[in-house]
Amino acid sequence: MQVLHMNKGDGDTSYAKNSTVQSKIISVGKPIMKEAVLEMLCNNVIESMGIADLGCSSGPNSLSVISEIMDTVEAANRLLGRRLVSEFRVFLNDLYSNDFNNIFMSLPAFYDRLKEEKGLELESCFILGAPGSFYGRLFPTNSLHFVHSSSSLHWLSQVPAGLESNALKRLNKGKLYISKSSPQSVVDAYLLQFRNDFSLFIKSRSRELVAGGRMVLSFMGRSSTDPTTENSCYQWELLAQAIMSLAR
Ligand code: SAH
Repeated sequence: MQVLHMNKGDGDTSYAKNSTVQSKIISVGKPIMKEAVLEMLCNNVIESMGIADLGCSSGPNSLSVISEIMDTVEAANRLLGRRLVSEFRVFLNDLYSNDFNNIFMSLPAFYDRLKEEKGLELESCFILGAPGSFYGRLFPTNSLHFVHSSSSLHWLSQVPAGLESNALKRLNKGKLYISKSSPQSVVDAYLLQFRNDFSLFIKSRSRELVAGGRMVLSFMGRSSTDPTTENSCYQWELLAQAIMSLAR
């Protein structure tokens, strides 16, 4: 967690320039996100709406989500003919070595667009970086109304416990995922790690979200219950082969 980061900057191999798949995933989830924001606003007038994007990375995706959330609030304002939210507190979270500067540099243009397109003044929108792991507390108690996280929760907090010890390592030799050749103990180790991590995630957010707050999480899924089909593993297999060849 100290070292993981997507490729920095905005060069050809940067995350910022190579995240259209993730952007597509966000687009697909937009109707669900809108519905959740509207449900949250229903019956509530919020003085200062706390919004967090967990695993924001660098590049344009995170601010496009934030803009979408604000649009939904604006649409609700118009529909009801009154201002439901007076100000936005937006927290962009990722691990410590994330390239936050890449997002921060795009803020002046983003604030200009907020003013031009949505008539929002600078005093009503506060965007802050929140470095740290989402597997643990990140925000004060009851400070958030809406939490969003996309394409991030598949990252575990560590190599599944036990998998680094010699016995299991030999069992999953040459692989860094659940493959056809992995024994059940490897499947169990991944499942246990996910269960522990996700529980901690949910527990932490439950303290941070206000009552009636909402959370939208999106993950890549698979259509089969078998985690070892080619469809599920193709990219991991290529990655494993590349790493093995590098190590050799
Ligand atoms: N949400 C963005 C980025 C997805 S990339 C988008 O849709 O484009 C996944 C991001 O999750 C990476 O930037 C990675 O650093 C971050 N991440 C992984 N584990 C994390 C953790 N424990 N806490 C916070 N961020 C994490």
